[in-house]
Amino acid sequence: MKDLPARRLLLVHAHPDDESINNGATMALYAAAGAQVTLVTCTLGEEGEVIPADLAHLAPDREDRLGTHRIGELAAAMKELGVLDHRFLGGPGRFRDSGMMGVPQNRREGAFWNTPVDDAASYLVDIIRSVRPQVLVTYDPNGGYGHPDHIQAHRVAMRAAELAGERAFRGDLGDAHTISKIYWNRVPRSVAEEGFARLRAASGTDFPGIAEIDDIPGVVDDSEITTEIDGTAHAERKAAAMRAHATQIAVDGPFFALSNDLGQPIFATEYYQLVQGTSGAPAGEREHDLFAGVST
Ligand SMILES: [Zn+2]
Repeated sequence: MKDLPARRLLLVHAHPDDESINNGATMALYAAAGAQVTLVTCTLGEEGEVIPADLAHLAPDREDRLGTHRIGELAAAMKELGVLDHRFLGGPGRFRDSGMMGVPQNRREGAFWNTPVDDAASYLVDIIRSVRPQVLVTYDPNGGYGHPDHIQAHRVAMRAAELAGERAFRGDLGDAHTISKIYWNRVPRSVAEEGFARLRAASGTDFPGIAEIDDIPGVVDDSEITTEIDGTAHAERKAAAMRAHATQIAVDGPFFALSNDLGQPIFATEYYQLVQGTSGAPAGEREHDLFAGVST
């Protein structure tokens, strides 16, 4: 086996842009510190809405070329974050964006939501056994906010983590590997409230409205948070990565909006809930490093 960097972080996301919104600062921080950061994106985000009017022709109900365009946006975002290893699950276009919950695209052939979990998970087992991450970051069981591809990304990531460690499973995909720590993306309610207060106090942002706290994926009571990563030093890179996803995100200073044009705060500190493995922090305290307590 070739030499691997000492610290290896794997992130599993549903669409291009989710990684920058949720983990941009964390990814930039660990990449800058010499850790191997691997991003696996499960779909191309073909069903997204397009913000810039001059790119509206890419939309799925017109030319249906948004997925290809978003491959380029993701590559540009990863350049901003200094992340070299980014892949699409099963290769680009293997699984199609399923659209929002309840739309006919959910059931279309090849839609990520319409794929058996174990089928999709075996592609991720292949990556896990080759990259051998100590840390995995993904969504909670509701995918943070109920989008079918986010829910499926959670299921596939958790299942793949389990299968990767089973020696009897698919020996052709490499030696078994057990991930030490698994985290779900979270936002503490107090931080969300404070972010929206800042937004309401700011005069004259680009956005005509303000989102609701419940629009933010993964908001939970502060007591659920086990880990916070201070990415303040990488906030600019995170904002630049978000800006690179120009069909999906409009950025105005420390705020952004999706296609609904409702402002949201950009969080430079990113928060997590450790759901598998042992916290490296003293009892009752939050971790400040995803690798805390991990032997490298
Ligand atoms: Zn998404």
